[in-house]
Amino acid sequence: MEKNQIFQRLNQVLKNSSSLYYHYPVAAILECHDGKLYPGVNIETSSPQAGICAERCAIFSAMADGYRKEHFQRIYLLNQTKNIITPCFICRQALHDYCNPDLEIVSYNILGESKTYLLKDLCQNAFGEDSLK
Ligand SMILES: [Zn+2]
Repeated sequence: MEKNQIFQRLNQVLKNSSSLYYHYPVAAILECHDGKLYPGVNIETSSPQAGICAERCAIFSAMADGYRKEHFQRIYLLNQTKNIITPCFICRQALHDYCNPDLEIVSYNILGESKTYLLKDLCQNAFGEDSLK
């Protein structure tokens, strides 16, 4: 998807974040190989562990629709600060378990500046399925 389009769409998705407690809205859009887009937002709860981050919201939604790791091409992120963020370590675990190592993570700040990461670079020596054998 074209950069301006995705940034505009991320800003629309960001409005759906429910961040009443920590006031830190995040939007994600997961792009599948067939062009299908799955939005995700963080949903904060009064007990922090009960909420969910935008990345997992998007991926789990796609999985509920039948998509799997071989379909996931990239995930776009947007937060409302000037910082360019990377997924938290709980999300990195879920991404590691349910996405290909070459998944692109394109993260935007509120100014529209972005950086692109590869999942494998953010998850070196991660715990995973092989660790359980
Ligand atoms: Zn997270």
